[in-house]
Amino acid sequence: MSTPGNATIRAEEVVARCKRLASFSEDPGSTRRTFLSASMRDCHREISKWLAAAGAEVSVDAAGNLRGFYAAEKFAAPRLLIGSHLDTIPNAGAYDGVLGVVVAVALLEALEGRRLPFGIEVVGFSEEEGVRFGTPFIGSRALVGRLDEELLSRQDANGISVRAAIENYGLALAEIPRAGLGDDTLAYLEFHIEQGPVLESLGLPLGVVETIAAQTRMELVFLGCTNHAGTTPMHLRHDAIVAAAEWIVAVERTAQSFPDLVATVGRITAKPGAINVIAGEARVTLDLRHESDDTCAGAADMLIRLAEEITERRGLTLRRRVLLSQRAVAMDPFLVEQTEEALRKIGYQPHRMVSGAGHDAMILAEKVPAAMIFLRDPGGISHDPAESVKVEDVAKALECGLQLLDQLASSSEFQKRMCRA
Ligand SMILES: [Zn+2]
Repeated sequence: MSTPGNATIRAEEVVARCKRLASFSEDPGSTRRTFLSASMRDCHREISKWLAAAGAEVSVDAAGNLRGFYAAEKFAAPRLLIGSHLDTIPNAGAYDGVLGVVVAVALLEALEGRRLPFGIEVVGFSEEEGVRFGTPFIGSRALVGRLDEELLSRQDANGISVRAAIENYGLALAEIPRAGLGDDTLAYLEFHIEQGPVLESLGLPLGVVETIAAQTRMELVFLGCTNHAGTTPMHLRHDAIVAAAEWIVAVERTAQSFPDLVATVGRITAKPGAINVIAGEARVTLDLRHESDDTCAGAADMLIRLAEEITERRGLTLRRRVLLSQRAVAMDPFLVEQTEEALRKIGYQPHRMVSGAGHDAMILAEKVPAAMIFLRDPGGISHDPAESVKVEDVAKALECGLQLLDQLASSSEFQKRMCRA
């Protein structure tokens, strides 16, 4: 078993590797690495070297996911997947996604050739952010058998389809079903930076994700009357911007009245958009998230009623459409408890939390028990070059991961509970 001193050296290496991978980019001077780009190939090549040196057998599946299999002590044993995503947004930080893959590699290295009753498969997902094709989770969807015709036909800004991107990378479309999870998959584990300020505010290095939040996205259009700014008296106006503004303030107030609900109006566009014209149309978006499906849906209904009340009172009309309605995804209770136990063993009081952001674990959870461990995110900054992690937190993550692997290896419960057969 690795000592804490060892863990610090390994953690320093993890941080250095994340920074090195950030240099594999489509853009000079900043990090951008999208689905099956040339920089993704460089990234694969680099991680493959580390995986092979740690004793894993490396391959790239037909959806472009990098996979490194570290065999069990016995042939034909089941496997535990540990991973995250390797693609990034434009102008990205060095840790979102990548950290989870590099931590998984470091866990294999920390085993120092020791084999467990189950194999470990490190997975670096090809696509999670949805940057190139406007649809996220292309990589993890392949593992749960949802890389369908519709998704394969989607095109990027240059008219290249997902299908063509896969072929251009030298991968075989016919092999996509083979990327799917086998019956020998016990569970999926993901380390990820929190991408928020909660752990830092609590002074904790790590958090155990209990649920990935439900999410509702909508677009509302407030339709009033365009008119002259100088000649239309205030009481005879049907101003779409003012109606939207009244509603936006109500969104904030409503969110504050539900514990842990977060609501965001991230975009407002108005027409005709001139300084001397009363706006006839204001188009706004709403993003609502909560750990409970019912709370999320209840808040959405309440906000729609409020918008209807405002438009009626002001003599406007309302159009709306739902853009996304995603249910909350629970992490596996047994794995959550085991992760908490591992944290206690290394000297920390575990803290359960809700992930407000979607992650690959949410997709994998459709088919296998999944768990996530968050690492403190200094300043709560993510999706930005200033994104960072503390070496000591990465060391704690490695200690926790090793402890968890040892617990699962000695748990007869684990293989019994996890095998769906
Ligand atoms: Zn991520």
